[in-house]
Amino acid sequence: MPELPEVEALSRFLGDELVGKTVERVYPVAVHALKTYDPAVTAFEGRAFDGVERHGKFLDLRAGDLHLVMHLARAGWVRWSEKLADAPPRPGKGPLALRVRLAEPANSGFDVTEAGTQKKLAVYVVRDPQEVPGVARLGPDPFDPAFSPAVFAALLTGERRQIKGVLRDQSVIAGIGNAYSDEILHAARMSPFKLAAKLDQEEVGRLYEAIGTTLADAVERSRGLPLRELKAEKKSGLRVHGRKGETCPVCGDTIREVSFSDSALQYCPSCQTGGKPLADRRLSRLLK
Ligand SMILES: [Zn+2]
Repeated sequence: MPELPEVEALSRFLGDELVGKTVERVYPVAVHALKTYDPAVTAFEGRAFDGVERHGKFLDLRAGDLHLVMHLARAGWVRWSEKLADAPPRPGKGPLALRVRLAEPANSGFDVTEAGTQKKLAVYVVRDPQEVPGVARLGPDPFDPAFSPAVFAALLTGERRQIKGVLRDQSVIAGIGNAYSDEILHAARMSPFKLAAKLDQEEVGRLYEAIGTTLADAVERSRGLPLRELKAEKKSGLRVHGRKGETCPVCGDTIREVSFSDSALQYCPSCQTGGKPLADRRLSRLLK
């Protein structure tokens, strides 16, 4: 799933390519991905893009008073092309959800795609991004200069949930998902099951630092890469997420996995939990 660093890289890439370019045609291919109907997505035809922004994990392409806002969910992506086919795309079982063809250069434009059978990609056409419920709910962005250590500490005050769940809650902090919350907690040498409200001042500071450096490093690594290489770059840059059974690059211990909420998380026992593996609650429930 694209998280803040990948969406940030996408937004910078599209900003460079799209600003000043006029839309010739919009083809909504997968109707289920379109969450709004007024204004129609074809209202972008004849308009020029004048800005690309990111809100959490949402991408926002602006053309005058219209915004094309997208949430790529688990398997969505944007493919840039300078060789779009002449024939209009047909609705079908393929991954293509939306095609935007630019007036020039000829045959250039982008496809919004979604792999797999779980269709969660969401596209909105709005006059204000705040009309998108997921955007309106977002907490502060870690890259916003106003996101200070004091703001972060205040978000955690009285927060009774485990820190792993708090970090990926979009209404607390925008843009962090399952992968980067694992990475941030590893960088902060902190147990994912620690209760947020129980963190002391030093731990809050360490976690704040880890959020900033982990996300900034990931954005830096993807700078200038072609879009099709971004996903591979994300995977190769992760130190614990998705690396169960591999060796921790910091201490050499074996990375472990434990169930969490609707998925699983990975962590290093030596770096994060005093060498003790976390109990898998799903497993212990089965054994009772
Ligand atoms: Zn380690």
